[in-house]
Amino acid sequence: MNMDVIVSLCKRRGFVFQSSEIYGGIASCWDYGPLGVELKNNVKRAWWRDNVTLRADMVGLDAAILMHPAVWKASGHLDHFTDPMVDCRACRRRFRADQLDAQPWTHYCPATKGNKFTVAAGEACRHCGARRTLCPECGKGELTPPRQFNLMFKTFMGPVEEDAAVTYLRPETAQGIFVNFDNVLQSMRLKLPFGVAQIGKSFRNEITPGNFIFRTHEFEQMEIEFFVNPNDTIDGRPADEVWHERWIEERLAWYQRYGIRRENLRLREHEKGELAHYAKRTADIDYKFPIGWSELEGVANRTDFDLKQHSQASGKSLTYFDEERKTHVVPYVIEPSAGADRSVLAFLVDAYREEEVRGEKRVVLRFHPDLAPIKIAVLPLLKKRPEIVATAQDLRERLARRWTTVYDDTAAIGRLYRRQDEVGTPYCVTVDVQTVGDAEKGEAGDRKVTVRARDSMEQIRVPLEELVTVFGELFDGAVWSAVAARYPAVKG
Ligand SMILES: [Zn+2]
Ligand SMILES: [Zn+2]
Repeated sequence: MNMDVIVSLCKRRGFVFQSSEIYGGIASCWDYGPLGVELKNNVKRAWWRDNVTLRADMVGLDAAILMHPAVWKASGHLDHFTDPMVDCRACRRRFRADQLDAQPWTHYCPATKGNKFTVAAGEACRHCGARRTLCPECGKGELTPPRQFNLMFKTFMGPVEEDAAVTYLRPETAQGIFVNFDNVLQSMRLKLPFGVAQIGKSFRNEITPGNFIFRTHEFEQMEIEFFVNPNDTIDGRPADEVWHERWIEERLAWYQRYGIRRENLRLREHEKGELAHYAKRTADIDYKFPIGWSELEGVANRTDFDLKQHSQASGKSLTYFDEERKTHVVPYVIEPSAGADRSVLAFLVDAYREEEVRGEKRVVLRFHPDLAPIKIAVLPLLKKRPEIVATAQDLRERLARRWTTVYDDTAAIGRLYRRQDEVGTPYCVTVDVQTVGDAEKGEAGDRKVTVRARDSMEQIRVPLEELVTVFGELFDGAVWSAVAARYPAVKG
């Protein structure tokens, strides 16, 4: 599938807009629209519920984005969170030194009177045999030697722009958890193993971001730091290694629980040379994005590196008292680190289907009901009948107390259904003439509405007063066919 299809659907239906679009946009920044914010909130809510609310061994945290600059010295980000960059002396563009030959390059060929060509990435000119040495963009400028460029966004705290006031936007949420380790441990009286979870924005000034919301300067992380006693063993094996495996399995299962197909997920083990200097083992959960297999989440065993670094730099003890062994230990930490924006993209891509229904193309987002931005759409069959409109609006109000519910009367019913399919609304409710009856003819309504399921497009007739119960069951996980069996079917 093509990423453009998703980007265009996202814009058309209010999921994601380019940031500052009326000014020509700003690179790699995106805004979540009315449906996008619901979807993203639902993803974060599902993550929080499953990893914090439902677990007895987890607590939450929301640390500040701005932290003491010493944090980034101790964590290694100030010295090592860098990319080697080169600048073009002519056009001033900046490139990652290790990616210069990953893009097509501009060439003024001496063998053809200086004609301008674009040569494929990493290839030589087929007229003169030359390889790229100059700036790949303008084809004229010499490049500076590589310099290390820090990926953290630098800013100033307070009114004076001087070195002493320099601070950074956090490049990861994890450090907020490490520096609060003792606060959390003491205030919550926790026993190892336990985890601290956090959802929040992080910032990385990467030079080559891109691919829609897959890689952006500003992004939201969903991170867990799960602390384990390194002296413990489980079935004769080091506890940190066992917990690492458990978290990999748990996180892999989580994406599938909310609808991602197993064949679009894979586990990728980091090679020894690729491991971060602090990591004992790291496994990525990759998703088959339209741009190819790419990281959705990393699950790392960060050992005791971070707590030791911060303890050393701050002079504060960050240990845990092991009652059984009567000794202080520095816990090991397992870190499942997921991207909220990447998850949103993966859920969108995986839900997207083009189907043929009676010779017509139907676009449908088969979102898990927990993730769907709109849960129910209430649609009046005739908007000229005041009783129908009033009943439908009243119904929307009642359902909206429990589920995100919209009312729409701006098109004919077939069109309205297709619109809701395209944004993944699991259920539509239609109020029609039969529901309200005809007072002039002295006909009473049956006070029943048509409920339509997105995936099967089946329709059933349900009494108004039973709707809340029916949706309660459906959104609680009941299967449609079991619920539908209790009500008469309606021919679509
Ligand atoms: Zn240049
Ligand atoms: Zn040439």
